[in-house]
Amino acid sequence: MSGIEMERRQVVVIGAGPSGAIASALLKRKGHDVLVIERQHFPRFSIGESLLSHCIDFIEEAGMLDAVQAAGFQLKNGAAFAWGEQYSAFDFGDTFSNGKPTTFQVQRADFDKLLADQAALQGVEIRYGETVISTDIERAKPLLHIEREDTSRYQVEADFILDASGYGRVLPRLLDLEAPSNFPLRQAVFTHVEDRIDYAGFDRNKILITTHPTQRDIWFWSIPFSNGRTSVGVVAAAGHFEGRSENLDTCLRSFVDETPSLQRVLANAVWDTPARTLGGYSANVKTLHGPGFALLGNAAEFLDPVFSSGVTIAMRSASMAAGVLHRQLQGEAVDWQSEFAEPLKRGVDTFRCYVEGWYAGTFQDVIYHPGSQPHIRSMISSILAGYAWDESNPFVSESRRRLRMLSDICATEPA
Ligand SMILES: Cc1cc2nc3c(=O)[nH]c(=O)nc-3n(C[C@H](O)[C@H](O)[C@H](O)COP(=O)(O)OP(=O)(O)OC[C@H]3O[C@@H](n4cnc5c(N)ncnc54)[C@H](O)[C@@H]3O)c2cc1C
Repeated sequence: MSGIEMERRQVVVIGAGPSGAIASALLKRKGHDVLVIERQHFPRFSIGESLLSHCIDFIEEAGMLDAVQAAGFQLKNGAAFAWGEQYSAFDFGDTFSNGKPTTFQVQRADFDKLLADQAALQGVEIRYGETVISTDIERAKPLLHIEREDTSRYQVEADFILDASGYGRVLPRLLDLEAPSNFPLRQAVFTHVEDRIDYAGFDRNKILITTHPTQRDIWFWSIPFSNGRTSVGVVAAAGHFEGRSENLDTCLRSFVDETPSLQRVLANAVWDTPARTLGGYSANVKTLHGPGFALLGNAAEFLDPVFSSGVTIAMRSASMAAGVLHRQLQGEAVDWQSEFAEPLKRGVDTFRCYVEGWYAGTFQDVIYHPGSQPHIRSMISSILAGYAWDESNPFVSESRRRLRMLSDICATEPA
């Protein structure tokens, strides 16, 4: 390695997605030197288009709210669920946690570029088209090896590395930190359509989650954008794809055609974009931090797309890590386990409980039950809006017990 260029920086962030952009901006705002290394060039496609209200708190904290509000993204004020003729809508203006009442549904190519540009405007240096290929953390200060597009290489020594590489999972792969997810292998097939929706029962200000009429573990997302287009996707366990067309467009349409309530919404849609697929996305890690590094967002754990929690968890982890790291860089003794990993995990575990309940059917029983009490709905709405860390909400602090109780009641009470 002798003769290779060597640079010294205070903080290096791997990846300029939502977690990397928020973390780097927050650290820069606190006066630290931050370099972001991003493999791709923005704008670039990414999945994860429906934001939760709690995201807005972090966008605001990072000084990016005015820019996001001015960008013309589709307003989102809640989440709606449909199963056959049953329809249940939750309003983010009515949450136990009294959080932000609205958020956005975003084309991630534009949204991620906007956040990264906002971070850069605040003084963060972002290098696009450069890939972190290896690391050495067995030294006083961790080292990253970076490859440019012309295949030339250089090294950066940092006081601290934040891995915000999402599905790239750079440090988990390089440091053997990967751990299996407890969720079974599921696959998503998705596209964008010109929606031409004229169905009066469709609320453009909400994500629509539709349950398959006969197989309740199969579900669809419909995420309308402000430009007359909608993101449509189906999620199912790997076994449900057996016997279906290998052509992704035909495969996705076959699931939709089996689901009359969704067919009705998409009756006039123009299917003009080739479908894509992603599978086996649920992932976990053995640890969220180590000497000289911490993992953010999807580089750490990804649960499941059903409650659109991914970007919220990514931004929450960025905000928490930036806070702890700022204190560490100022010379304070910090404990990453008790101040970052454990409190972050508590909210992730809340989402986990409801994701498990969704696929087991118990949370669907609660969501679709027509007689649920308004105060219970506002506690559930809080979680759907992303406030999964609000321990004053009994559906957060005692998620498993409360969900069990409620689903038992729903099962015995006639609908
Ligand atoms: C089917 C599906 C649907 C989803 N729907 C939603 C949704 O509706 N709402 C929601 O909130 N979330 C959703 N998610 C989750 C969401 O996609 C992620 O949680 C979110 O993008 C994570 O953000 P991030 O910043 O951690 O990573 P990313 O957004 O993945 O950004 C990581 C960045 O790191 C870069 N990178 C990777 N490797 C390297 C490297 N070696 N060197 C340099 N740079 C690198 C990448 O190019 C990328 O730009 C969904 C996920 C799936 C699978």
